[in-house]
Amino acid sequence: MEFKYVIVGAGLAGLTMAERIANVWNEKVLVIEKRNHIGGNIYDSYNEDGILIHNYGPHIFHTKSEKVYQYLSEFTQWNDFWHRVLTYVDGNLVPMPITVETINKLYNLNLNVFEVEEFLHKQAEDIEEIKTSKDVALSKVGQDIYEKIFESYTKKQWGIDPAELDTSVISRIPIRLNRDTRYFADPYQGMPKHGYTKMCENMAKSKNIKIMLNTDYKEVIDDIKYDTLIYTGPTDYFYDYKHGKLSYRSINFEFETYDMDEFQEAPVVNYPNDYDYTRITEFKKLTWQEHKKTTICKEFPCAEGEPYYPFPTKDCKAQFSLYQEEMDKESKVIFIGRLAEYRYYNMDAVVERALDIFEQMDNK
Ligand code: FAD
Ligand code: UDP
Repeated sequence: MEFKYVIVGAGLAGLTMAERIANVWNEKVLVIEKRNHIGGNIYDSYNEDGILIHNYGPHIFHTKSEKVYQYLSEFTQWNDFWHRVLTYVDGNLVPMPITVETINKLYNLNLNVFEVEEFLHKQAEDIEEIKTSKDVALSKVGQDIYEKIFESYTKKQWGIDPAELDTSVISRIPIRLNRDTRYFADPYQGMPKHGYTKMCENMAKSKNIKIMLNTDYKEVIDDIKYDTLIYTGPTDYFYDYKHGKLSYRSINFEFETYDMDEFQEAPVVNYPNDYDYTRITEFKKLTWQEHKKTTICKEFPCAEGEPYYPFPTKDCKAQFSLYQEEMDKESKVIFIGRLAEYRYYNMDAVVERALDIFEQMDNK
């Protein structure tokens, strides 16, 4: 078999590259995917009750990049969706991220925007050098809110203390000194009107794209002639774990369907301090599907299983840098995506990265 371009992984990174190579250069490309479907972790499907679920946890598209939004809009229309999250603390549901309303509900107060700023200023700890996610939280909201909202959630999600995690983790969550209760403030947000899988199918529509499902690339790669390999799987596996296994955090997703119209008040409810799961998603509230039943998903983070989250700690980054040195030496292989680059990328960052890499490539 001969293909000029071979891509490992039919997730968003792999499909963006495949789409560009096939449609802009009119070149043939083979995509090898070990799962039985395309889309990677953004895959969604209808369950046995006919409810559209996100099989690998809730996915909400949001970006600051007009380029990424315009690009994906070639393959899907969007529902004008603004994500909202509630967090269950001390028996109450309070809005996440922290806004004026969160503070008022947590402490049974009625402060205005300026008073909340003053309140948080008093709570916040003066930390000289912000080195960890714990420092980030303490320096913004102080010990009490840290314990109520961040500490236990983060321990459940990552299995370690926030003091061991890179600043980037808790920094994902803004603190808003206003009444904007949307989870993301990015100008472009939405839910693909007909789902993520449909969007991915549209990206892969070209006759130039051949997809081989149910295949680990190592089973076939020696029988394929290619010029360039674009790899979006885990890097440690690519190098046969020569620098050891990289740590990834995994999740067990437990789906439950109820014979009721509505399960909870928001698309996602976080449970920082109660239960073994971190959050519950109710899919109909993401997709706006009308159905007399409803399906929810509970997320139980765990160490073993499918690699979903690269581990943002100093040691893990140091270990990955050994692989990075090898990656930099490759002339025929391009590494892209959340697994291959070992980075906590959102969907938009993966697409942006793939578009940028494509623009730098030369189709000789
Ligand atoms: P992946 O989707 O992981 O694709 C890699 C593909 O490679 C997979 O299909 C895999 O099966 C395949 N592969 C791996 N090894 C091999 C092999 N040996 N041979 C063949 N194929 C192989 N982002 C957002 O923007 N918004 C969100 O709300 C959001 N929520 C998330 C919730 C969860 C629970 C998770 C885990 C992620 C979330 N993300 C979210 C991030 C988003 O899923 C990723 O940014 C994006 O899917 C990464 O795409 P990718 O192509 O890099 O990786
Ligand atoms: N986080 C938290 N409490 C919350 C929500 C988030 O402590 O109620 C922390 C936690 O460490 C989490 C990180 O913030 O891993 C990032 O949250 P995000 O919602 O971005 O996580 P993702 O959707 O990527 O799992």
